[in-house]
Amino acid sequence: MKNIAVLGSTGSIGTQTLDVVRANPERLCVKALAAGHNITQLESQIREFHPQIAAVWDEEKAKELRICTADLPVKIVSGMEGLLEIAQMEEAEVLVTAIVGMIGIRPTIAAIKAGKDIALANKETLVTAGHIIMPLAKEYNVKILPVDSEHSAIFQSLNGEKKTQIDKILLTASGGPFRGKDKAFLKHVQLEDALKHPNWSMGHKITIDSASMVNKGLEVMEAKWLFDVELDQIQVVIQPQSIIHSMVQYKDGAVIAQLGTPDMKLPIQYALFYPDREYLAGERLDFWSLSQITFEKPDMENFEGLPLAFAAAKAGGSMPTVFNAANERAVSKFLNRKIGFLDIYEIIKTCMDAHKVIEAPTVEQILQCEQETYEMIESRW
Ligand code: NDP
Repeated sequence: MKNIAVLGSTGSIGTQTLDVVRANPERLCVKALAAGHNITQLESQIREFHPQIAAVWDEEKAKELRICTADLPVKIVSGMEGLLEIAQMEEAEVLVTAIVGMIGIRPTIAAIKAGKDIALANKETLVTAGHIIMPLAKEYNVKILPVDSEHSAIFQSLNGEKKTQIDKILLTASGGPFRGKDKAFLKHVQLEDALKHPNWSMGHKITIDSASMVNKGLEVMEAKWLFDVELDQIQVVIQPQSIIHSMVQYKDGAVIAQLGTPDMKLPIQYALFYPDREYLAGERLDFWSLSQITFEKPDMENFEGLPLAFAAAKAGGSMPTVFNAANERAVSKFLNRKIGFLDIYEIIKTCMDAHKVIEAPTVEQILQCEQETYEMIESRW
């Protein structure tokens, strides 16, 4: 039996993590759950999975939840302190970081220091604090197990191979709902169009990031840290059917890939059961009916999210934080219909241009950069 704690249990990854637990009651046990605001859903998860602790961000909501769950032996906590308490709790072996945003940094660090393995979905943590997280994981001898489907595919393609023999990582991307379109088209896209991902069903923020290719940019940075490779060893390949989840090319020219139907439960459970594979119900790839798998070069001119991410990664230090924070705030404005789709790139670009890089920033400096970026955006848009 593996005991897990889930941060972001009411979200897309969080609920699918609980689907995996539900399908494997003899192998997985939930010790803690954390959500932002959705206490109705959190309460029903508490009633089903019986965690010892549950966290909700807002103390007022926590008070409400304490009343609703008064008949249960669960401790309700709130705020960052609540997340940190869960991250460090003795009873959990693995922390699933399915929370969205840089708020995941401190709990991830706390969990590593408490000796927990991390099933990492929260890519923002690695993008902004990879230089802190990866050495810390090494120092505390804990595993960072990728949940992102592309990184899980790379992780699986690296199984049994020597990392020193990697030539390059081939990070696949569907290209999103606007693949093949130009800026004149992108200028007028509506929120509803951007939320229609062709293959994956995900949270709103990451769905917009997929449409803008910012998500792929964040994944490039995530891959750089996770697999300890140089930026120029990562090549993005558009594979519109999302069948090949990513590949690794080795020095001898061999390419090893992981393929499957688009289902996040596979990478989630691979991270939870690693190095074992357990049965997962669902569709299987049928190569007789699969007519084609096609490939394209990413369009770096119309989809500036990717070149901007490469530029942020190249600048290093605090620049990926600015890239990520600017995107986060811009996407939130786009989701609230305050700005157009192309303004997302404009906001990121402006914030990056104005930023003076801090080398190897501390967590405090990362959070400070995040705040300054938000303030700059609020003062201009
Ligand atoms: P969602 O928006 O669907 O869910 C986010 C979760 O985080 C919710 O449970 C939300 O709670 C919770 N949350 C937000 N703020 C706080 C907070 N301050 N304290 C505690 N909990 C909080 O996001 P996704 O599941 O789509 O994504 C989660 C992470 O996984 C992201 O980093 C994303 O990039 C990554 N990822 C997602 C994939 C996907 O398929 N969805 C694929 C690969 C990576 P509430 O709803 O109650 O506010």
